Amino acid sequence: MSKHPTSEKTISMHNIDMELIEMTLDVMKYAIHRITNTSLELGSPKKEEELRRLVGETITDRGIGGENAFQLFKDVLIKATVPIDHPRHLAFVPAAPTRAAIMFDLVTAASSIHGAYWMEGAGGIFCENEAMKWLVSLTGLPKPAFGVFTSGGTAANLSALVAAREYWRKNPEHQNIKGLIITSVGAHSSVKAMAKVIDVDLWLVETEDAMSGEALRSVLKTLDAQQRKRLFAVVGTGGTTNAGIIDDLSGIAEICETEKLWFHVDAAYGGGALAADSVRHLFNGIERADSITIDPHKWLFSPYDCGAVIYKDPQLAKEAHSQEGSYLDIFKDEGAHGFNPSDYQIQLTRRVRGMPLWFSLAMHGTDKYKWAVEQGILLANLAGRLIEANPVVELVREPSLSCVLFRRKGWTPDDYRDWTYKNQREGFALVTPTKWKQGGAYETVARFCFINPDTTEEDIVAILGTMG
Ligand SMILES: *Cc1c(COP(=O)(O)O)cnc(C)c1O
Repeated sequence: MSKHPTSEKTISMHNIDMELIEMTLDVMKYAIHRITNTSLELGSPKKEEELRRLVGETITDRGIGGENAFQLFKDVLIKATVPIDHPRHLAFVPAAPTRAAIMFDLVTAASSIHGAYWMEGAGGIFCENEAMKWLVSLTGLPKPAFGVFTSGGTAANLSALVAAREYWRKNPEHQNIKGLIITSVGAHSSVKAMAKVIDVDLWLVETEDAMSGEALRSVLKTLDAQQRKRLFAVVGTGGTTNAGIIDDLSGIAEICETEKLWFHVDAAYGGGALAADSVRHLFNGIERADSITIDPHKWLFSPYDCGAVIYKDPQLAKEAHSQEGSYLDIFKDEGAHGFNPSDYQIQLTRRVRGMPLWFSLAMHGTDKYKWAVEQGILLANLAGRLIEANPVVELVREPSLSCVLFRRKGWTPDDYRDWTYKNQREGFALVTPTKWKQGGAYETVARFCFINPDTTEEDIVAILGTMG
């Protein structure tokens, strides 16, 4: 008689049998194929009812079996997604995780490491911290600056703003008043959204280009005494998501230092370019920030999800984020000596999501990363020249970092939309329009954002060709 009377196949989730081994091989085969595939299909979404009709009920009392579920995934569901690393995916901020990082993401999952505390996760956190050391070195922040990997830029911005406010609240006069943050209209939507989460007000500096120190200074002059008292942080952007614009970080840092304001730099998208010698000078002043957001899952070739928040003084972050609780007390003991990532950002239980970046950096070396980031900048400049040479399109502004804004002469917003959907429907490319404000008015324009070093000149020429 069986030792496990209930161990039918469908509920023996933790048993190892032939079926499990075959399934594992199937999954590995799929992963190998996906990692080595150089002619990806550009999928497109289907309506939910359509997907349901195609796959049927998948969650049932007895399970439909791994083979069936996996087949449905391969035949139907994956095809209703856009591979973000497709070389003609130039919309939003694309991504292009290295094969090494993807492989190690599988290893990270298989290793079941708890990434909150050194006591449990030391070996994994050590890897993350090695990668973090390199990130911090790119910023030029002096010791003891350090950071942690987060789920993304949104969580990194939130963690930094919470630390900033907590620091400001150390002053008893600031205990019961609502905080205020200054940033520019070009700041990412997540800064605005996270200000809501922590219930602080935002003052948006109007600018069509980089936020300058001067612009910040004139806003400060217009604040009344109460507003000035409520002001605790300034958020500059190190590469706007829309156009790749870098604020005047030195000018802003200067003012924040004299005014004793926390200076946060959101470089979620642009931060990768700190590795690129050709544009590094544009970020001068970032080494004077109190906190910085960088998303390795954007321009540092990590799989989703992987953001990072870096602090000039990690102790201040620890005072804001360290969680207390009777069952957590053990981690405050000697046995837990080491770096506890959960003390520096909003999340407790966490994946060691910096491990794929660590492995990829260890495998390739940092020079390859420099090269790959420079490729994005080269592609943007190349696209700029191709646009200038093409009579039906024109640049809206010079390419900045890896973003290119351009207009198709004579097109209406509807034309841009139809063009986007047609290219996606045909499985050819995903390039989306954006809005650009000039002379006070918004215009719909086309936008490229390059991340993937595998994108070619032919790809760009072919996409421009679809604009007639
Ligand atoms: C993408 C982006 C964010 C948000 O990051 P997520 O990883 O999507 O949460 C924040 N700021 C900037 C500048 C970004 O480009």
